[in-house]
Amino acid sequence: MFAMFIIVPIFIVLVFVFVLLLMFSPKLKGKLMSKQIKATRYMMDESKDDIESISSNMADATKDGIETTTRAIRKGLTENGGIYCKYCGSKIDKDSIFCKKCGKEQ
Ligand SMILES: [Zn+2]
Repeated sequence: MFAMFIIVPIFIVLVFVFVLLLMFSPKLKGKLMSKQIKATRYMMDESKDDIESISSNMADATKDGIETTTRAIRKGLTENGGIYCKYCGSKIDKDSIFCKKCGKEQ
């Protein structure tokens, strides 16, 4: 029981010193940082396969969506032979020289 009264203050002082060292010693900070970076790198290496499988799954899932969107865009662009005005964005005929809406040359 009495030991608590010694250990707790010592522990607090140690933590305090550690925090002070962290604040004033870039070297220690760098060491800790590099440890953290190493740990992160290790974690990434460990989960690399999982991440790869997740991303390939996601790619498969989104592939259909992208294909549908691309097809729709292509259809929209080629249908009616229409293009869009460079200046006002309104739909104009493919071979028109001037915009019907704003009158600017294409
Ligand atoms: Zn226009």
